[in-house]
Amino acid sequence: MQPFVYETLPSRVVFGQGTIGQIRAEAERLGVRRVLVLSTPGRGEALAHEIAALLGNLSAGVHAGAVMHTPVEVTEVALQVVRGAGVDAVVAIGGGSTIGLGKAIALRTDLLQIAVPTTYAGSEMTPILGETKDGVKTTQRTPKVLPEVVIYDVDLTMGLPASIAATSGMNAMAHAVEALYSKERSPVISLMAEEGLRALARALPRIKDDPRDRAARWDAFYGAWLCGACLGAVGMALHHKLCHVLGGSFDLPHAETHTIVLPHAVAYNAPAVPDAIERIAWALGVADAAQGLFELAGRLGAERALRDIGMPADGIERAVQTALVAPYWNPRPLEEGGLRDLLTRAWNGNPPQA
Ligand code: NAD
Repeated sequence: MQPFVYETLPSRVVFGQGTIGQIRAEAERLGVRRVLVLSTPGRGEALAHEIAALLGNLSAGVHAGAVMHTPVEVTEVALQVVRGAGVDAVVAIGGGSTIGLGKAIALRTDLLQIAVPTTYAGSEMTPILGETKDGVKTTQRTPKVLPEVVIYDVDLTMGLPASIAATSGMNAMAHAVEALYSKERSPVISLMAEEGLRALARALPRIKDDPRDRAARWDAFYGAWLCGACLGAVGMALHHKLCHVLGGSFDLPHAETHTIVLPHAVAYNAPAVPDAIERIAWALGVADAAQGLFELAGRLGAERALRDIGMPADGIERAVQTALVAPYWNPRPLEEGGLRDLLTRAWNGNPPQA
């Protein structure tokens, strides 16, 4: 074992089925008086109105303006609503996009946040905010954006389409994978990472086969919580760096990009961190971690080639060069040729190779 620092993040987690019924009690517990409910437009908005009704006279209404990658101009519009309504807290109901908007508001106002996630992406458990300005996404880590309360209600995930469950679930698994070989890894977070991987690897194929499988939805959400907590606790490495570069440079969809890149990033890092890779394989119940993740993505019917989600062929070289500028810490040094091979395989949808 190596020396470690373990810091507990101050967030309260309420997990179960029907837990959204506790939202008013949770708001009262925080001592807030006027709450704005945030969501994306469409289906999420209907759910937001249901939550506003549960909040009763604490509700200041719904703002259904969240979009992916938290553009600052979208936050500016939401801030006007926040100021106009005189609220002292926000409830963010939805996936990482809505939760990102809640965080962006909290960063600028110090308002309290209750996050109600409906995907497996994990943002609700982290003090991390990624924002986009003029097409450039920058990420910061600050305790100001960590939601005070997170309500996980399995009922809210029952209608999450299997395809989104698959990719947001693999996005969550990426947090746990990199936590196991993080520079800041610690024994407690590694336990959570293994358990999160195990829960998601078993649950996602069951959700694919039967999206109404309630027990599988429980397991997947439990795994997502654990994986999100890993991302919140320790630094990430090459995989997250590459996804950040690809998402920012080519406007690729977030969860799908993570799903495609993960097996290749694991294969790249495998020679440098054999113990961590063995733990990942063990948690997945497979002999080879990288190959197991690639096969899992296939089993879930997810895209496995970057070219199929909108990345141009000439983007490979651009991505290699961008990734080499200000790289994240990584257990294996970033080598230009190795990165080019990795991205070429991921672009073509070929199996991973160390
Ligand atoms: P998302 O929030 O964009 O949601 C994806 C789609 O699923 C949307 O169309 C949404 O309306 C729909 N959806 C959500 N819940 C649903 C439900 N229960 N039923 C039916 N449809 C539902 O996607 P995401 O993958 O959750 O989040 C991606 C975003 O989160 C990215 O911007 C990413 O950068 C960010 N993120 C941030 C962190 C962090 O720690 N800061 C971590 C992970 C992801």
